Amino acid sequence: MNKIEHIGIAIKNMDDSNALFTKLFGKPPYKMEAVESEGVKTSFFEVGDNKIELLEATNDDSAIAKFIERKGEGVHHIAFDVLDIEAEIKRLKAEGFIVLNEKPKRGADNKLVAFLHPKSSNGVLIELCQEIVLKE
Ligand code: ZN
Repeated sequence: MNKIEHIGIAIKNMDDSNALFTKLFGKPPYKMEAVESEGVKTSFFEVGDNKIELLEATNDDSAIAKFIERKGEGVHHIAFDVLDIEAEIKRLKAEGFIVLNEKPKRGADNKLVAFLHPKSSNGVLIELCQEIVLKE
């Protein structure tokens, strides 16, 4: 596992939060992207070497909608960059972590992603992400 790739924050309203975080960081998001399969809209901010992802639910069944219902807005997950997501999933399963999706799925920002259940990681939802390298 490498560096923190980004920190995900669950928010209720993308326009309001984009405006707020633009004020906070002094610059607008560099990317906005919907991930239909997850029922979310995302926006990404670059802060030095770090990235912040805002997530807004686009339907009531979305994990983000359920998170906000239970806990309100706030830090939702920490994502770590990995070189070989399949190998990391295998390794972490063997270590006793609960992997929510054993088959990596397509996430936002050109990444393959998998999540670890917060129950197995001290209450923190962990996202593994591997950059998708487009082959010629
Ligand atoms: Zn994320």
